[in-house]
Amino acid sequence: MAFNMRATKNPMPTQAPEVRRHNFDEVARGYTEEMAIDEAKRCMQCKNPGCVPGCPVHINIPAFIAKIAQGEFEEAYQIITQSSSLPAVCGRVCPQESQCEKNCLRAKMPVREKDADGKMVVKGLGEAVGIGRLERFVADYHREHVKPVTPEIEKNGHKVAIIGSGPSGLACAYDLAKAGYDVTMFEALHVAGGVLMYGIPEFRLPKAIVQNEIEGLKRMGVTILTDMVIGRVLSIDELMKEYHFEACFVGTGAGLPRFLGIPGENAKGVYSANEFLTRVNLMKAYQEGSHTPIEHAKNVVVVGGGNVAMDACRTPLRLGAKKVTCVYRRSKAELPARKEEVEHAEEEGVVFDLLRNPVEILEDRTGSPSPRSPEFNPNYGCVTGIRVQKQKLGEPDASGRRRPVPVSLEEDPQAIYTIPCDCVIIAIGTSPNPLIKATTPGIETNPHGCLIVNEETNETTKDGVFAGGDAVTGAATVILAMGAGRKAAKAIDEYLQK
Ligand code: FAD
Ligand code: SF4
Repeated sequence: MAFNMRATKNPMPTQAPEVRRHNFDEVARGYTEEMAIDEAKRCMQCKNPGCVPGCPVHINIPAFIAKIAQGEFEEAYQIITQSSSLPAVCGRVCPQESQCEKNCLRAKMPVREKDADGKMVVKGLGEAVGIGRLERFVADYHREHVKPVTPEIEKNGHKVAIIGSGPSGLACAYDLAKAGYDVTMFEALHVAGGVLMYGIPEFRLPKAIVQNEIEGLKRMGVTILTDMVIGRVLSIDELMKEYHFEACFVGTGAGLPRFLGIPGENAKGVYSANEFLTRVNLMKAYQEGSHTPIEHAKNVVVVGGGNVAMDACRTPLRLGAKKVTCVYRRSKAELPARKEEVEHAEEEGVVFDLLRNPVEILEDRTGSPSPRSPEFNPNYGCVTGIRVQKQKLGEPDASGRRRPVPVSLEEDPQAIYTIPCDCVIIAIGTSPNPLIKATTPGIETNPHGCLIVNEETNETTKDGVFAGGDAVTGAATVILAMGAGRKAAKAIDEYLQK
């Protein structure tokens, strides 16, 4: 096969920024068949491919790309799904630039160009093969062209409970159902899918795609029970003793938001990113007549710099905000969000106020909150601004990133100033909800509230109870959660077959 030696990836077709900032439709439109084949031909089919060890679930990347290059898209899909049960999701949201694509040979090959004297000089390095974009293409092709089938699976008579229906639970359920287990999934919310449904917005990950993956699980015989908060409706002990589940997988994620602990955080118009995004994504607060409405703020400040913060910045724009400012305490180089997400946010008009740390949230205290008072002020207690302090970068901290150090008023009399706003969204991280630990005797957590597991088997400190995903690692990524779910499924199989 002739390789395509172009140094750059096929660009991803996207909605124009000035159009997409006003709608919830998916930003990235996906490759056409021609673009996918052309991109696939950039893969050098390395004998020792760096991309495969870079993928947390070790997809056979050169093999699936070779199939795309030959126009055999369904064969490519079959190769991917040997390792990943959610390719349409991962192709969209995985941080490929720090995983498979980071190790791609094409990203290490020098690009040579003639200089003014006609001499060939190295101009930099090429771009990785668009592995994520190809994965997405193949998954979308399969969904659009191949009729779903109901697989015939022989049941082995063992019952397993999965608690939480995010990517870790979905991946665990998929592998166990495929192996013949009778799997029941318990989800606290009224819809299955975890962060894929309530956190990541429609414009990055259409919900129909997530539901399509969940329908596939149901066809495999998995029972999904929603509105079931385990630890409230039933405990893990009850599931095992009274309902005869022989093993449990806990994939309850890290949905407990952290706050700043500064004055004014209880003002009206201050949200955690989780609450804000859940209201919009899951409860469709943007639709007329939604039972869970949301204030359509005009001037929004988002605190944080990760993927969650980028979603929290881009969502209010689509709800009609005139200005969204992202306040982050380090510099652009340290922003933990995916580069592509930061670029998309900038294109859509999000303003980045970097090296700033909030010190106080201001609220309207004029007049009276009482409607019976002549001084009644309906905006009493509502956010009016956020005071931020400039930062400079000091020595690296435990995370390896340079620590932000406050600039004092002696150094700069303007070091603390106010950004006027009518909404503040706090996106500075989350931890696991303590409910499972509090209601399950024998299950242990570390000081961060994460479930302690055996690294080989993902078994918790309680016999027969396994765990994985954000509940174990703290907030991480979809693919790591999926990898943990699969590892636990293998260990549950070994545990029950003993
Ligand atoms: P979750 O997806 O959190 O699912 C846990 C599920 O368990 C939830 O549905 C919850 O309701 C349920 N649950 C909790 N407690 C109980 C209980 N007691 N009983 C029953 N059910 C319960 N990762 C990426 O790789 N790329 C991205 O671009 C990206 N963007 C993100 C954007 C946002 C806004 C957020 C919040 C996260 C993002 N992540 C991203 C992180 C990624 O989504 C998570 O790492 C991943 O979803 C973790 O999967 P999980 O299965 O561990 O948990
Ligand atoms: Fe292809 Fe890059 Fe993987 Fe090599 S490292 S096989 S070029 S995707």
